[in-house]
Amino acid sequence: MFALADCNNFFVSCERVFHPELNGRPVIVLSNNDGCAVSRSNEAKALGIKMGDPYFKVRGIIEKYRVAVFSSNFALYGDMSARVQQVLRQFAPAVEQYSIDEAFLDLRGMQLQDPDSYAKHISAECRRLTAIPVSVGIAPTKTLAKIASKLCKQYPKLNGGCYMYRPADIEKVLRRFPVSDVWGIGRRSARKLEAMQVRTAWDYRQLPEASVRKLFALPGWRTWMELRGVPSIEFENLLEPRQSICVSRSFAKEITDCGQLCEQVANFAESAACKLRKQHSLALEMSAFAFTNRFKENAPQTFGSHLCVFPDGTSDHRAIVSAAVAATRELFRKGYAYKKAGVVISKLVPEEGHSASLFADAGISERDAHLSQSIDEITRNFGPGAVLFGIQGDGRIKMSREHQSPHYTTRWDDIPKVSVK
Ligand SMILES: [Mg+2]
Repeated sequence: MFALADCNNFFVSCERVFHPELNGRPVIVLSNNDGCAVSRSNEAKALGIKMGDPYFKVRGIIEKYRVAVFSSNFALYGDMSARVQQVLRQFAPAVEQYSIDEAFLDLRGMQLQDPDSYAKHISAECRRLTAIPVSVGIAPTKTLAKIASKLCKQYPKLNGGCYMYRPADIEKVLRRFPVSDVWGIGRRSARKLEAMQVRTAWDYRQLPEASVRKLFALPGWRTWMELRGVPSIEFENLLEPRQSICVSRSFAKEITDCGQLCEQVANFAESAACKLRKQHSLALEMSAFAFTNRFKENAPQTFGSHLCVFPDGTSDHRAIVSAAVAATRELFRKGYAYKKAGVVISKLVPEEGHSASLFADAGISERDAHLSQSIDEITRNFGPGAVLFGIQGDGRIKMSREHQSPHYTTRWDDIPKVSVK
C-alpha cells in the first residue's frame, strides 16, 4: 500500500494559518510578480476563478466579492511544507516528497489493521501540528492513492482520509474520474485519448495492453498497470541529493543595466550556494543565463548563457558568487531588456571524500572555507540575507509582491505578536 498526502489549496491554507478570519472567505495567491492565480480557496473556485487566470482578468470578481489577495510568499510556504513533511515522516519508514504540497508514503510491510482510520489519523495529526488541512489517500498503487486523495477533497465526510482498495469501489470511482486528471496523463496523451473516445480512467484501464504500449509507450503503460492495481512506478528515495540546482526568477521590470543584472544574478548564486552547502555537495560547473521577454514581439531578443568550471569542485559562497558575476558580465549585451535570469549549478559530487587537485592553493581555500562557514552560521542564526556580499545590493530580488504577507515562521521580526489582557 501507498499513501499520498496532499495539502488542500496549499498556499491559501498557509496564509489562513495566520489569518483565521479568512476561513470561509474567498482567498487567492498570485504567482511571482503578481501575474496570475496559482492557489485558490474553495470559495474562490466557486466564484469561477480558474488556475492560472491573470490577475487583471479577475480583478472585477475580486472587487465585487471582496476576495482576499496575497502575493506568493515562498519563505512561508517552504517552511510550512517542511513542517508537514516532518509530521508525515512519523507515519511511514519512507517518504517521497513529490512537490511542495504533496508526498508519497511507502506503507509496504507495515501491516496496518485499519488503513482507513490510519489515513484519517495522518490527516488529523497534520492539522493538529501544522494547522494545514491535508488529504490522505491510501491505495495499492501510487496512481490510485492520488485518486483516493482527490476523493477526500470532494467528500468532506471522509474527514481527510480515504482507503480505496475493493475492486468494486475502484471501478465505481474510475468510471467517474476524467482520464485527463489521472497522474501521468499529460496534455498530449489526453488529446489523443479524447479522439479515441477514452474519457474516464476506467475507459483507459479497459484498453488492450498492446495498444497502450504502442500509443503511449512505457510511461503510459505504467499508468495503465497502476490503474489495474499493480505497482509500476518506483518509489523514489528522496534522500538522494539533487544532481543540479537551479535558481532563477523573472523580474517585475526588465533590466537593461549590466550592474543591476549582476546584482540580481549574485543573489541567485548565493541562494544556490546555500542549497548546495545544505546537501554537502561540491559543484564542478555552474552557468549563468539571462534572456529577454519573448512575448514582446517588437523588442530585440537575446538569450545568453555562460559556463564556469571549478576543476577542484567548490561549495564556497564567494567563489560561486564571483564566478556568477563574471559570467553575467560575459553574457550581458547592451541594448537588450532582460526579463529573466538565473544560475544552474551542476556536476555535483559529494563533499566527503572528494580530493582537491595537487595544484589547488591551500592557503586561499582554507581562508575561504572559514568565510563560508561563518556565512552559514550567521544565516542559520539570523535568517537568509542577514549577511551579504557587496555585489548583492540590498539582497532583494526585484519582483513585484504588492500583497505579500510577512515571513511569520522564518524571520524574527515577523513573528506574530499576541497580547493578553
Ligand atoms: Mg495540493
